[in-house]
Amino acid sequence: MEEPQPEPGQEPDRHLAAGTLTLEEAAVETSLRPRSLDEYVGQQSVKQNLEILLAAARQRDEAADHVLFYGPPGLGKTTLANIIARELGVNLHATSGPAIERPGDLAAILTNIEERDVLFIDEIHRLNHAVEEILYPAMEDFAIDVMIGRGPSARSLRLGLKPFTVVGATTRAGRVGGPLRDRFGAVYRLDYYVEDELATIIRRSAGILGVDIEPEAVDVLARRGRGTPRVVNRLLRRVRDYAQVRSDGRIGTAEATQAMNAMDIDDEGLDTTDRRLLAAIVQKFASGPVGGAAVAAVIGEEIDTIEDVYEPYLLQLGFLDRTPQGRIATERARDHLRRLGYEVPTPRRAERLDAGLWDGMTAEGRTDGVSDHSAEEATESEARA
Ligand code: ADP
Repeated sequence: MEEPQPEPGQEPDRHLAAGTLTLEEAAVETSLRPRSLDEYVGQQSVKQNLEILLAAARQRDEAADHVLFYGPPGLGKTTLANIIARELGVNLHATSGPAIERPGDLAAILTNIEERDVLFIDEIHRLNHAVEEILYPAMEDFAIDVMIGRGPSARSLRLGLKPFTVVGATTRAGRVGGPLRDRFGAVYRLDYYVEDELATIIRRSAGILGVDIEPEAVDVLARRGRGTPRVVNRLLRRVRDYAQVRSDGRIGTAEATQAMNAMDIDDEGLDTTDRRLLAAIVQKFASGPVGGAAVAAVIGEEIDTIEDVYEPYLLQLGFLDRTPQGRIATERARDHLRRLGYEVPTPRRAERLDAGLWDGMTAEGRTDGVSDHSAEEATESEARA
């Protein structure tokens, strides 16, 4: 069997995992956002470091150091920016890399900033070069250089700014250039949350939304939450709708599990796009190695979306491996697909290895003789070496 198709009327949400938000969802997210570091679940070491950074700024009566957060979408970067502004008792000005098109746009924002305010720049890796050039002196010396006039009579004028704090967020630390990264006093990586932490977040959100959910059902959602607060909050709202329409509104294990099935979310929390991605690598590219562009073309998604949103969790789960030659689907991924009824052809790497190990044997003997697993381990250590 090839990829199982969803039943009609059960079109799964292709964007369960994605970073994109609808307007309605953005409003709900705001209501669910923790407002203080105390309310913020998990990320202990980031929280401890931030506490010190903020306390020091308050004691010195100065703007806090610039802070950069990086990590996959939905882990709480924007939330932390909001908390920093709140804990410092200042305004938050929020913008994003792609939203600031020209240097003048950034200059306009900067000249409106009050002393010690926080400027949150989401997707900071997408700032264009000309804008970044303005940001450097702004962050370092609290000043910008503006050009007055045109042509031969043009001259640059330095304009002082009030001291302020930049909080940057990115899903791609590697794409933030050295000069920009160096201007941040603190750089923190956000990690995926463990199930216990996700369960705490679900209970907290259920309390805010007035949802009645049993402890076992909380675990069902936490387990499928991809380590991501945004995702568990999404799941909770979907399950709430499901329970409201299909039963008395109370969410038990049965409602939670049925809702997950209806949304086509499997027991690892993978949605249809994750599975299409894995299935493409396993079926069309003999489990890899394969380049990102080829996978993107086959499943019809943007490569950036694949790399920012889907792959990080599949790597974390141990379903994907990245090698210099490209992505590989691991034996765990193949097992998972097999259990779901996908056709799982022998990996190309195993065939290659078999050929080396069993030189001279018949083709049949070769594939029967070596299990995928040992073959893969050998090829992986080969790749590492
Ligand atoms: P990011 O900016 O990293 O994409 P957000 O800060 O927008 O993620 O977080 C997405 C949602 O997840 C928020 O609405 C918030 O309700 C929830 N959330 C994130 N981190 C936490 C946390 N540590 N504790 C509780 N809720 C969280």
